[in-house]
Amino acid sequence: MSNTKSMTTSNVQLARCEPTIAINRTPSNKLHEIVEPVLISQKPKIRNWGGTFTSTPACLFQPKTVLQCCAIIELARRMGNIECRALGRGHSPGDLPFTQGWLLQMDNLSGLVAIDTSVPTATVLAGTYVSDMHGMLENAAVPLGMPNLGSISEQTIGGLISTATHGTGYSFPVISAAVESMRIICALDEAEGGTQVISCSRKQNADLFNATLCGLGATGLLVEVTIKVDHWFKLKQISEECKFEDLIGPETSTPSIATYWSADQMDEHTLPMLQSRSKRAALKGIQKAKELIGVNEDSVDANDGLAIKRPMSLGKLLAHKPHLVPGCPASRLPKYHTKDPSSIYPIDSVNSEIEKDELDEETRVAQSRLETLGQSSQHVRIAWVPHAGMCTVMRMNKTLEPIQAPGVFSRVYGRVVGYHFLQLLIFMSRYRPSMLGNVNRFAYWLTHPSRPSDPSESSVPAKPIAADANQKAITEDPSQFANGTFDPTRLGSSSSLNRDPEPLNPTNPRSVLVDAAPRVFNFDCLFQQYTNEWAIPLSCLGSTLRAMRDWLKEEEEISKRGGGEQVHFPVEIRFVDADGIWLSPCHGRKTVYIGIVQYRPYDLPIKYRSLFAKFEVLMRHFGGRPHWAKAHTCGPTELARLYPNLSDFLALRKSKDPDGIFLNPYVRRHLLGDLRAEASPRIFKSRL
Ligand SMILES: Cc1cc2nc3c(=O)[nH]c(=O)nc-3n(C[C@H](O)[C@H](O)[C@H](O)COP(=O)(O)OP(=O)(O)OC[C@H]3O[C@@H](n4cnc5c(N)ncnc54)[C@H](O)[C@@H]3O)c2cc1C
Repeated sequence: MSNTKSMTTSNVQLARCEPTIAINRTPSNKLHEIVEPVLISQKPKIRNWGGTFTSTPACLFQPKTVLQCCAIIELARRMGNIECRALGRGHSPGDLPFTQGWLLQMDNLSGLVAIDTSVPTATVLAGTYVSDMHGMLENAAVPLGMPNLGSISEQTIGGLISTATHGTGYSFPVISAAVESMRIICALDEAEGGTQVISCSRKQNADLFNATLCGLGATGLLVEVTIKVDHWFKLKQISEECKFEDLIGPETSTPSIATYWSADQMDEHTLPMLQSRSKRAALKGIQKAKELIGVNEDSVDANDGLAIKRPMSLGKLLAHKPHLVPGCPASRLPKYHTKDPSSIYPIDSVNSEIEKDELDEETRVAQSRLETLGQSSQHVRIAWVPHAGMCTVMRMNKTLEPIQAPGVFSRVYGRVVGYHFLQLLIFMSRYRPSMLGNVNRFAYWLTHPSRPSDPSESSVPAKPIAADANQKAITEDPSQFANGTFDPTRLGSSSSLNRDPEPLNPTNPRSVLVDAAPRVFNFDCLFQQYTNEWAIPLSCLGSTLRAMRDWLKEEEEISKRGGGEQVHFPVEIRFVDADGIWLSPCHGRKTVYIGIVQYRPYDLPIKYRSLFAKFEVLMRHFGGRPHWAKAHTCGPTELARLYPNLSDFLALRKSKDPDGIFLNPYVRRHLLGDLRAEASPRIFKSRL
């Protein structure tokens, strides 16, 4: 796909026009005429960015106008309710954007519709790449920018919103929360007027609005989005290398849990999709665990012959007997229920105080240190390298300082060593898994500074970008800076925006980057990869990371004897604020995302299934919710426990799409529990 795909202003205005006559009254031959020019191919092979799924939809369309989109959906209805699915840029690591029906590749419906500098907001067509939006916003009469971003800007705005894509920031919600209004094509009942474009916002069709803010492409086809933006700004990122134990404390094998598991509990907690297999495995595992731990008759509960009660490090238990790790206790399940669908962000009464009393001292200290760290800057990201026992803490704040970006040498070094050489090493470790620990340690050493950087040595002024000239007006009056911030009341005063965070330890190696915000928010995600990412409650962060460290340490021990799980680096840890979006993984609770990757050197498969399965067990234990865009194994029963508003979402979805035009195998499998062959990820030739 090309890098830029925006239309000229007049074409955009034409493209966004709605059909002049009701589309459900247009004869089919006329609809065929409208659709034909944008039918690109039949049974093409489509692949996601990670190369982890391929699919062969019956037809691929590339609509350029709202009229063409409406005509495709209406034809699909008339031809027997053929499933229709929007494809953004295929950057979802799972099979969420795939269908065997009709695929609508949306990136030709792209371009800037309008900018309102007073709020400020930007209105764009839904297939616009976020990377193109940066240029559009910078070139506005008053230079503007996105208030927050994830690791990349390659997505379409429609795809980004549909999965509640997130960046990092204690007081920054998922990016969907910044959406002001949308236009969406719904496939309504004939009695309600059939296929039509519906506008929605907090004030108009608020339930459709809320559902579509993380709608997984299942509420309809997004054609236009108005989103709150910010005045153009630079970010200063200070990266600090520190020992991971300085953040989460020394190893003490806590948290530990009593290994207690009965057949009844198994029934209650096991994912229905995997129930029979897991239950059998668990019963066998319990028997084995009795032998392993050396249970005698006294430690077997008289009322429940299967019960074993003995404290054991949660991480170690996960390494050896993942099926003995309990699911999420009821006390940890989310309670927040969005009563008013227009209540998106900020929301009231977020309870993040649970469980602290139950924590051991080490974990309590770790939790409070991590919470303080999360609040020490506007955006805090932690990249942890488990094999090296090190992490990079990246803290970003708005700044008025001049640009300070990596010099040519650093960039070339980063490309040659941080990309090509690393890929070669990971490729070699495919054949000698035992070398992966050393590869990770070596790669960390090669790519991270071991001493504080001297800005005059390592940096050169970067080429100024278009908005830099206009920035002068802003820098002369810093108060303007705060005037346009996304949510000034939550960000604090303009003076606090520019203050550098205190170093965690003055002797830690540090490096500094100052640049236009997108260049600091985004970073090189290297090559293709399997990914797994979960959103856990912030209140469980200390416990989760401590258990995860124990687990990965134990796996490394096991790997010395052959076997064991080996995680690539980095493990990414990011903070996100609570919101009221029905299906947002941050719904109702302050959240931390924890993500792991397994790179696929030279596009080759690599071992990852058992690692991800154990990771999921740990995330589930702490009440985690999976990132929707990434492959996971949650079914509707579990999701209903994790999302108190799931039934609202499903009811709204059904009312706006009674014939199931916007369903696909992913949605049917995970949200509706449909496990027929055609809902299996294997039809997409996944490597899962
Ligand atoms: C290298 C990399 C880095 C990433 N970093 C992050 C990150 O930092 N944070 C994060 O949260 N995620 C991240 N992701 C995930 C990514 O942001 C999401 O998968 C996003 O949805 C991809 O956008 P897309 O345009 O490629 O959409 P696709 O993957 O093509 O589609 C995603 C979903 O959106 C739907 N959709 C797309 N367009 C429309 C439309 N117009 N109307 C209705 N539905 C639509 C699709 O049907 C599908 O259900 C990353 C992914 C990659 C590959």
